[in-house]
Amino acid sequence: MRPMNILMVASEAAPFAKVGGLGDVVSSLAQHLSLLGNDVRVLLPFYSTIGEEHRKKFRPIPAVFSIHLGEEHFARIWEYVSPEKVCFYFLEYDRYYHRDRLYDSGGDGFDDNAYRFTFLCRAAIDLPDFLQWTPDIYHVHDWMAALVPVYLETVARRGRLAKTASVLTIHNLQHQGYADRSILAYGGLWDSLFRSDQLEACGGVNFLKGGIYFANKLSTVSRSYAEEIQWPEGGCGLHGLLRFRSGDLVGIINGIGEEDWNPATDGRIPHGFSAENLEGKAKCKGHFFREHWKPVAADAMPLFVVISRLYWQKGLDVLADILPWVVNGMAVRFAILGSGDASLENHFRFLGECFRDRIWVRIGYDESLSHLLEAAGDFFAMPSRFEPCGLNQLYSMRYGTLPIVRATGGLRESVQSYAGGVANGTGFVFQDLTHQSLHDAIGWACATYYDRPDDIRTMQRNGMAQDFSWKKSARRYLELYGWALEKKNNS
Ligand code: ADP
Repeated sequence: MRPMNILMVASEAAPFAKVGGLGDVVSSLAQHLSLLGNDVRVLLPFYSTIGEEHRKKFRPIPAVFSIHLGEEHFARIWEYVSPEKVCFYFLEYDRYYHRDRLYDSGGDGFDDNAYRFTFLCRAAIDLPDFLQWTPDIYHVHDWMAALVPVYLETVARRGRLAKTASVLTIHNLQHQGYADRSILAYGGLWDSLFRSDQLEACGGVNFLKGGIYFANKLSTVSRSYAEEIQWPEGGCGLHGLLRFRSGDLVGIINGIGEEDWNPATDGRIPHGFSAENLEGKAKCKGHFFREHWKPVAADAMPLFVVISRLYWQKGLDVLADILPWVVNGMAVRFAILGSGDASLENHFRFLGECFRDRIWVRIGYDESLSHLLEAAGDFFAMPSRFEPCGLNQLYSMRYGTLPIVRATGGLRESVQSYAGGVANGTGFVFQDLTHQSLHDAIGWACATYYDRPDDIRTMQRNGMAQDFSWKKSARRYLELYGWALEKKNNS
């Protein structure tokens, strides 16, 4: 396959701007596509939250960048080329991106989010003329970039981008992006797109719906999730449209950044380890207790870890409900790192205070601590209501920390459940998100830990031997880009 020009458009890209898995995926996929010989560029907002350590490496492109919304706007583009030769473009426009956080001020989203990301999408369309560079493919991620295919197939369908195809990846269908009809005039989009089969939904404009309708090809981040979203239970109101487009929809499981998440070389953990020698893992556990959970010391009790955004999707409200029951009935400890919904944050804080020697809670976002916890843990709890792919179960398996997951989306696809007495699994999988089921799954893991330590070792080795590299998935995306180009130009 000939090398392609690929322009990714996203609201996050690690390490510059990351709230969840989206940021990890955009950057690692871009790197791998570049290493396969493609010209890969990424456009994202120049958020004021991007750290000085990064921004000092950015260079401004010395020309005014004009963006053709309903009215013309002027912005600036900063550029950074990574060691893997991915070119990142940062769209500077302080009115929209000079905020303390990416999407919200701690509660609901910012009122003008629809405007902020319409601006990003139109900028993505105007960027090729500005750079004098033509992408073969726009790979756009989630609702924040979903208007790109809409522009591409309507107002921008002639000229430089006439042959450019688009792929939309849905990382999370729950967030769709809504605005009232006036966003079309703001964005310079045709009012005729306000149709119930295209952009209109419930009397307003639905960004993701428009992207799903117009993108040449669609993907989600696991095969299971691609199937689940075609049903009313998982389709968040868009199942009909997704089913209509099912011939163009594929599931490609995320990989993980092998350099970032490798227990043998991870600079953020105090002791390296591998499947052959897990001594370093036990030392990391000791280190975690010494440095973060004094006066409690590491002992024979298993350590269950949670690292997560604290939202309804993650099912952690159910975990919070049963934790007193769990720690009163089982010899286990829990370490929880997360932030999100204020009431859930408070619930966990309260549990941490009530059970100081059994439940450790840190509210916040801490990248280094997340690596240490993955290394120190025995089990990782992920009882998600839905999970398009999930990264933490992959990191956990890599670090010999056995995931306990609900059978949904990417969790179902990536974790092989332990069959009692046959240690061919890589974790513990349960079906229904009820208090009883989650309690029993934790009990199952706990009993295996105490009664069958050899099975635990075997499962750790099984998980650590899995190939979660991007190599395979990056090639599948290239294949998908090829199909998108074919569809755009041969039909
Ligand atoms: P989602 O994208 O739905 O948040 P994923 O499992 O796909 O879930 O990805 C979550 C990513 O965010 C992982 O890299 C995880 O380590 C990271 N993460 C989530 N919460 C925190 C936190 N409080 N501190 C550090 N990292 C976090």
